[in-house]
Amino acid sequence: MRKIIVDIDNTLWDLTPVLYEQIRTVAPLIPLPTEWHQWDFWRGYIPEKVAYGILRDIHMQQYKFGVYPDAGKFLINLRKKGFYIIIASHREKGTLNATEEWLKKHQLTFDEVHLSHDKSVLFGDCWAIVDDSPTTLDKAEKAGIVRAGLRNPWNEKKNHPLFDNLEEIYNYLQGQCAVGKP
Ligand SMILES: [Mg+2]
Repeated sequence: MRKIIVDIDNTLWDLTPVLYEQIRTVAPLIPLPTEWHQWDFWRGYIPEKVAYGILRDIHMQQYKFGVYPDAGKFLINLRKKGFYIIIASHREKGTLNATEEWLKKHQLTFDEVHLSHDKSVLFGDCWAIVDDSPTTLDKAEKAGIVRAGLRNPWNEKKNHPLFDNLEEIYNYLQGQCAVGKP
């Protein structure tokens, strides 16, 4: 069975506006998300510790937030295609319960949840990854697995397969299956 890694933030739900509002309360000069051309866009505005604290708070309250309208169907289609789905997120282990509750609340299809600071530990065993992080996509390219992500200001200048919605990503993955990408 082919295994696929699916990211959460900015892949299954729209983290950006929530993160922007939270950061703005402590750093009013933070640029608009359309200007977030770097993965660590917050550098120079807030300390790293504060940035990760804000993210943790959001992840602990994950139940408050929705999912992208095509997220459910995307995962169902992957399952129908025979994929084993690993939901993987760069978030603290302490947010596992909140994350799983949210996945169940929105009836998202998955086989396993993996929380860590480096998803590449999963690459050896996986056929593909869907993620918006340019760093993670770089690592996936290096590892030679299929990769795709939703297009965002922080990844669009990199040469990765990027798309505007999850349906397009599914079609791309299907194409990669069809050409027999090992
Ligand atoms: Mg993400």
